[in-house]
Formats: sequence, C-alpha cells, structure tokens
Amino acid sequence: MTSAAAKLDVARLNAFYGPIQILFDVGFSVGRGEVVALLGRNGAGKSTTFKSLMGLVDRREGEIRFEDAEISRQPTYEIARRGLGYVPEDRRVFGELTVEENLEVGRQPARDGVTTWTPERLYALFPNLAEMRRRPGGQMSGGEQQMLTISRTLMGNPSLVLLDEPSEGLAPKIIEQMADAILAMKREGLGILLSEQNLHFARLISDRAYILEKGRIRFSGTIAELEANTAVRDQYLAV
Ligand code: ATP
Repeated sequence: MTSAAAKLDVARLNAFYGPIQILFDVGFSVGRGEVVALLGRNGAGKSTTFKSLMGLVDRREGEIRFEDAEISRQPTYEIARRGLGYVPEDRRVFGELTVEENLEVGRQPARDGVTTWTPERLYALFPNLAEMRRRPGGQMSGGEQQMLTISRTLMGNPSLVLLDEPSEGLAPKIIEQMADAILAMKREGLGILLSEQNLHFARLISDRAYILEKGRIRFSGTIAELEANTAVRDQYLAV
C-alpha cells in the first residue's frame, strides 16, 4: 500500500505525557480494507500511539493524515466525527444500560462511502449479542463486553477503526469469533489498525505488521515476512 493510497498515514509522530516523550518518529499507514497490526511488548507504546491519533495525549508532534485531512492538530471530537473509530483497551460499556441501549449511544449519521451499521447488522456480526439484547452491559463477560464496545464504535459508521488489544483476556472460542468479525469488517471496506503483544491473534487476520519497541518502529513488513523472521520476533515480541 503506497502512502498516496493510504487512508491513515502517519509520519514522524512524537508523543508526550507531561515532559516525558513516549513515541519517537513513529510512521505507518493503513489502507482501505486493510488490517494492520501494531505489535510490541507491554509498555512499548501501542496504546499511546492510538491515543495520539485520537488527540488524547498531553502533546503530539508530526503528521497524521486521515482520509484527505491533516488531523494532528484537531480535537478528539472532530477526529471521531471524521470517521476514525477508537476502541480503547479498557472496555467501556455502560453497565446500567442494556446491549441495545449501549448501541444507541454510539449511533451517528450515515457517512458517504462507508457501511451504515444497524443493530441488526451488528447482531449478525456478533451473534452472541443478539441473544442478550436486553441484558445490562454490567452483566456480560469480558469477551461479550469487548464485542459490545466494538459494535458501539461501528454504530458511528467509521471508515477506519483502532482496536487496542481486541483479543486480550478472551477465551479461545471467543477469539475465533473476534477474528471472524474483524475479517467481516474488512470485507465491508473498513481499515483496521489493531494492537497486540504477540503474533498469535494478529497473524490470523492481518495483512501487514509494524513492531514498536520503546516508542520506535523496529520492523515493518507483511505478516509472512514477520513469520519468517525469527530474530525480530524473538527480540521484540512476547511469546
Ligand atoms: P500495554 O500493552 O501495557 O498497554 P503499550 O504498548 O500499549 O503497552 P503504552 O500504554 O502506550 O504501552 O505505554 C508506553 C509507555 O508510556 C510506558 O512506559 C508507560 O508507562 C508510559 N505511560 C502510559 N500512560 C502514561 C501516562 N498517562 N503518563 C505517563 N506515562 C505513561
């Protein structure tokens, strides 16, 4: 995917919490309908990268192009309004609201050129949720909450979604469902950037990968290239 065709194109991104610099000259791209993995160990800077894209760090420098706009100086609400969806690591479902009500909270107007999601389409994507439409979010398992958080984000009809460790803490059977759902989202033309600590889940669904370590990109390539590169995997990824 060349930079010109990329939906999200990040260059020389630096990010800071207070005076502390966490990201150093980070660059990557995600194209339409592409699933890209941002890999790295605990503390490598994956969540900070996502927060930087959304304008949720204390300070950021660099270029972030999304669709045809430079968003590195835009506020979070404007970035979300442009169609960049964000599912943070801590699944923030509304515990008192039912599944249906949680989905309504995320509803945004339809957007040109991207899939318009409805609760029914999301129940087809995540059949588990269909069986618990009236259940309060607080009474769902971690995996179900993860599916609900992703679904609520899709209700905003994003063109690209950031998924922070979508497989974290999920049972193997749920992991399979999550992988299927992400591939279905890709087939709808969505770009997907997901973070993971290891290759296990990412290799099932990703086209390309980047590895972060100590806030710097250390590897960029296809999943096949990464699978063939034992030295890089051993050096930078959790097993
Ligand atoms: P994890 O999987 O543990 O979330 P990560 O790759 O997402 O790892 P980050 O959460 O981005 O890593 O953390 C990168 C670095 O930034 C770590 O050294 C962390 O301690 C630091 N950090 C994260 N949040 C803050 C904050 N609010 N203030 C100061 N430092 C922070």
